[in-house]
Amino acid sequence: WKPTIKALQNIDKKDLKIDNSFLNIIPDDDLTKSVQDWVYATIYSIPPDLRPLIEMEMKFGLIMDRKTPDRISPPISSQAVYTELDAHMTPNIEAPVFEELKKYLRGISEVSENSGKFSIIESQTRDSLYRVGVATQRPRFLRMSTDINTGRVAQFIEKRKVAHLLLFSPKDSYDVKISINLEIPVSDTEPPEKYKDQTPMSERGKQRVSFIHNDSCTRIDVTKVENQRNGRGNSEVTHEIELEINTPALLSAFNDITSDSKVYASVIRTFLNNGTLIRRKLSTLSYDIFEGQKKGM
Ligand code: MN
Repeated sequence: WKPTIKALQNIDKKDLKIDNSFLNIIPDDDLTKSVQDWVYATIYSIPPDLRPLIEMEMKFGLIMDRKTPDRISPPISSQAVYTELDAHMTPNIEAPVFEELKKYLRGISEVSENSGKFSIIESQTRDSLYRVGVATQRPRFLRMSTDINTGRVAQFIEKRKVAHLLLFSPKDSYDVKISINLEIPVSDTEPPEKYKDQTPMSERGKQRVSFIHNDSCTRIDVTKVENQRNGRGNSEVTHEIELEINTPALLSAFNDITSDSKVYASVIRTFLNNGTLIRRKLSTLSYDIFEGQKKGM
């Protein structure tokens, strides 16, 4: 392609403004826009009084086909929203990749340019999951988190799943699941003591390091989980990487969308960008560790 207008033929490269479109805007790509629209529709569907209890998170693992034991492999070569309802993703990363990512994040948080930008919080908790109201009403899932070091109940909530979105990521070693849930505090009429003697349906021991980056409204949780399902003797260990968006920042951008949609667009874009950095880092680590050979989870 050659410019046919004479003035363009001797153009000075210094004058080129190639960081923008003919409308002087940068439109978001389809994937970013799909997520922005999906998050908007999902928040909109939640009653306003419950919105402050929203938890929006991104996890990494492999999207599996229900029919085969393999990762899905549609003929697509770039990241896309995967809309097959039968597909599911269990968040899990191989232990060595998980450990290396943790080292990487510590390193990032320690470089001088980032001083004061990250807060790091370590925690050891035990989550007991109760399923209640099975016969009477719609079943509710309660989660009691106990701080292992102090023995105190740190959090007691009802976890309600609202919606999730799967992002197939064929260029990477892991796919992505974005979930929006509600974490509703269990009322005082049901104090933790009421459940202390009941057998939970499952228990999760969690060793977590959280890297909180306030400027991008993102918290990265790196968690080793020991899952114990009651009625089964053996426990199983998973390694989970999770990004969580700052809910007040998300809601404030959502509420202001009619007067200024740019902030909302950029809150979601930034969260996705953080996810992309983590996903690509995980892929590089996985490739280095397993040298491209087929890995076992
Ligand atoms: Mn979470």
